[in-house]
Amino acid sequence: MAPESAPGADPLDALAPRLPSPLQEVEDERFARRGVRLLLKRDDLIHPALAGNKWRKLAPNLRAVAETGHRTLLTFGGAYSNHLRATAAAGRLLGLRTVGVVRGHELAGRPLNPSLARCAEDGMLLHFVPRSVYRRRAEPAFHQELHRRFGRCAVVPEGGSNAAAVRGCVLLGEELRGRTDVAAVACGTGGTLAGMAAGLRAGQRGLGVPVLKGGFLGGEVRALQRAAFGGPRGDWRLEERFHEGGYAKVSARLADFAEDFSARHELPPLETVYVAKLLLALTTLTEEGAFTPGSTVTAVVTGPSWSPIR
Ligand SMILES: *Cc1c(COP(=O)(O)O)cnc(C)c1O
Repeated sequence: MAPESAPGADPLDALAPRLPSPLQEVEDERFARRGVRLLLKRDDLIHPALAGNKWRKLAPNLRAVAETGHRTLLTFGGAYSNHLRATAAAGRLLGLRTVGVVRGHELAGRPLNPSLARCAEDGMLLHFVPRSVYRRRAEPAFHQELHRRFGRCAVVPEGGSNAAAVRGCVLLGEELRGRTDVAAVACGTGGTLAGMAAGLRAGQRGLGVPVLKGGFLGGEVRALQRAAFGGPRGDWRLEERFHEGGYAKVSARLADFAEDFSARHELPPLETVYVAKLLLALTTLTEEGAFTPGSTVTAVVTGPSWSPIR
C-alpha cells in the first residue's frame, strides 16, 4: 500500500479500487428470446468495503477533503444507509474522523442495528436526531450548529449526491462507451444516473429505475446535472413502474424474481433495495418488447447483496 503522505501520491491509493469494474454477460432466455443481450456492470466488485456506486460517489469528496486538510467528514443518512456505511469504511481506511447524522432520535437508546453497528466499529461517531431536525439537513444554519458541535468538518449531503459525486460517476458512463446501447441503473437520489448519463456517448441511452415512490426524480436528476455540469447532459429517461411499493419495500414478485435470478445465473443473492428492482424492470421491459432486437442492455450492479449488513 502506498504511504498516505507520499508526495504526489493520490490520497485515495489506500482505497485501491478495482476499476474499470468487470463487465459480465449473462445468458438469460427471457432476453435471448427477444434478441437482447444482457450485461452486468459489476460495480459491486469495486471495493470490498466501499462497494459499488458509493465508491464512485465518495472518491471525489474524499479527495477534496484530503486536499483541503479537513480531517473530519460529516454526512447524513437513515438507519440502513449504505452511504453511511461506505463513509465510515472510507474514514477507517484513510484515517479520517467521520460523523454520521442519523434520522430517528428514538434509535439513540437502543442497540444498534447491524448496519449502524458496522459504522460504529469503523469509528463513525453517530449523532441521532429527530425527524423534524433531520429535515433541515441541507440548511446552512443547521450545518453551522453541526460545525459548532463537531468542529471544522467537510459536509457531504445525504446519499453522497453532490456535484462532485455526480462528476465522479461520469467515469461509469465512460467505461460503458462502445459496450452497450442502454445503460440502466437503479436510482435513490439519482446522482449515479446523472453522472453516468453524462459519460455515455451520443447514441447510447441511460435508463433510471427509481426505487422510491413519488415521480419526483426527474427534476432532481436535472438539478444535479445543472449543479455538476451547468446544464443537461446525455440522453436518459426514467422508468417509474418498479418501486414495488417504495423504498426498501420487497413485494412478493420482487422476492421471487430476485431468488430466481441469482439461482439461474449462479450469482450471489441480489441486493433487494436497488439491484433486484433494476433487473426486474429490465426483464419486464424486455418481455414487453421495449428494446430493439439486436441491442445490448447493461444493468449496473450498484451494490452487493450483503449490504447493509456486511
Ligand atoms: C445508494 C445506492 C444506489 C442509489 O444511488 P443514487 O446515486 O442515490 O441514485 C443504488 N444502488 C445501491 C446498491 C446503492 O447503495
